[in-house]
Amino acid sequence: MSARILNGNAIRDQIYAELQAEIAAFAAAGIRPGLAAVRVGDNPASKLYVNSKVAACAKLGLASFPLTPPATITTGELLALIDELNHRDDVDGILVQMPLPSQVDSKRILEAVDPAKDVDGFHPVNVGKLVAGRPNLVACTPIGVMEIFRRSNIPLEGANAVVMGRSDIVGKPMAILLMHAHATVTICHSKTRQLKETVARADIVVAAMGRAAMVTPDYIRPGATVIDVGQNVVTDLAEAERIFANFPEKVAAFRTKGSVLVGDVHPDVVNVAGALTPVPGGVGPLTIAMLMSNTVRAARLRRAPSPAPVAP
Ligand code: NAP
Repeated sequence: MSARILNGNAIRDQIYAELQAEIAAFAAAGIRPGLAAVRVGDNPASKLYVNSKVAACAKLGLASFPLTPPATITTGELLALIDELNHRDDVDGILVQMPLPSQVDSKRILEAVDPAKDVDGFHPVNVGKLVAGRPNLVACTPIGVMEIFRRSNIPLEGANAVVMGRSDIVGKPMAILLMHAHATVTICHSKTRQLKETVARADIVVAAMGRAAMVTPDYIRPGATVIDVGQNVVTDLAEAERIFANFPEKVAAFRTKGSVLVGDVHPDVVNVAGALTPVPGGVGPLTIAMLMSNTVRAARLRRAPSPAPVAP
């Protein structure tokens, strides 16, 4: 058996097409929703992430305001910048790319973002609303995973779901969303005993640990739906050869590039799972799509008068 591949790029394209209709309705009302992206310092990975978010804004016709304060910025200076963005009417969404330099109090910065503009869904007010079942702006990766389930007709009601990882940005909100969708949810983490046995009972597995190819086929109940959130860059040839022993084309690509992107789920799981998200091309495209969706949503909720409803 080979798993049905849940194509994140195709789902992202559906979401973009829907957003474009709403953005056109905004444009007709003279409004261009805008995203401010704050990237402190020169972290190459942060640069790559923010560039792809800005490119997505351009593709959809959203305004973007990239801000790049120096790595020496203080907490006070960054708080002043956030305050300015909170008050700008052309800014609907604010994202602060993590990690911030060690001298900056990251929690204080995230809590300073106006909850109505918190398109990453990290503010305690938005986390509280999610827990209370009144979601407003929710973290992008877990709502992206929910879009994968919904648009791929994966039933959640009554399903046994295991979330591997309990971070604030993925694992915790993922578990809450699954619970609200009436799944029976187990949250696993680094201290979980009998991890393999617990995961092997699941109908739905969401792996979000940052552990390359850790979830091997023996973790997976045959036919289960497996969502691979992990994004791990493997730079060691021997490790790549071990992980991709049955995928020679991946090893060949490694030899050209010197690295390969690996999920938390072992590639051989494709032979056991009923449905599986690939890495790359699974959850990743949805994270940016939902950031765009949250920006449009924040604009819709904050601005008045709202644009005319879009015809179905
Ligand atoms: P994180 O903050 O490092 O959290 C990792 C979680 O996994 C922690 O709760 C940790 O447990 C748990 N964990 C680590 N090793 C484990 C093990 N051996 N067994 C069981 N649980 C274990 O990571 P994150 O930010 O949630 O990200 C997780 C992964 O998703 C990373 O690969 C990241 O790159 C990727 N990611 C992808 C996207 C995307 O768009 N595709 C978006 C966000 C993140 P403890 O709490 O006990 O330490």
